[in-house]
Amino acid sequence: MINIILFGPPGAGKGTQSARLIEKYGLVHLSTGDVFRYNIKNQTELGVLAKSFIDKGQLVPDEVTNQMVKDFIARNNNDKGFIFDGYPRTIAQGENLDRVLEEYQANVTSMIALEVDEDELVIRLLERGKSSGRPDDQNEAIIRNRFKVYNDETSPLANFYAKKGKFVAVKGKGSIDEIFQNLCKAIDGVSQL
Ligand code: AMP
Repeated sequence: MINIILFGPPGAGKGTQSARLIEKYGLVHLSTGDVFRYNIKNQTELGVLAKSFIDKGQLVPDEVTNQMVKDFIARNNNDKGFIFDGYPRTIAQGENLDRVLEEYQANVTSMIALEVDEDELVIRLLERGKSSGRPDDQNEAIIRNRFKVYNDETSPLANFYAKKGKFVAVKGKGSIDEIFQNLCKAIDGVSQL
């Protein structure tokens, strides 16, 4: 089983690359952002709660997100493993993921981080906002807030996994194909350990 955390700031290409990676490696994709958006669309209780945070570019509280991930893993338990996209985003979430995977005698194989400049990301996100319909991609102030949250709360996770010897950085610049090849090399490297 391989469990990969695809890490990186908003707009780094995690969603696009995850879609390709799950096809190649047969992994299950968990995008917490996608699960929240599905719930918002269907106006569930979780969706209404999540929307109040997402619209401001803030994180949904850890207890809510952690429970959702625990339920998702229980429903999608499989032999090959998972790609986690947009989760964990705080140290508390990282600790939760370790605990949940342990229940299945599994662990995080590696965190693979896509590295891209922030200014390039703002341009990408505003461009994506024109077609994605995501309100949080259409307003530069909200985008900047998402980066602030990323720098303050999420980026410490890189060190959390580095200390365990589970952090690999990959250049997130270039064509989608080039970045995909870089990610595959990183995954092939860690899955043979
Ligand atoms: P994403 O699709 O990953 O860019 O996530 C969109 C928004 O959903 C984020 O800006 C957060 O408000 C919320 N969200 C997604 N994943 C998480 C998470 N792991 N923890 C808390 N909030 C999250």
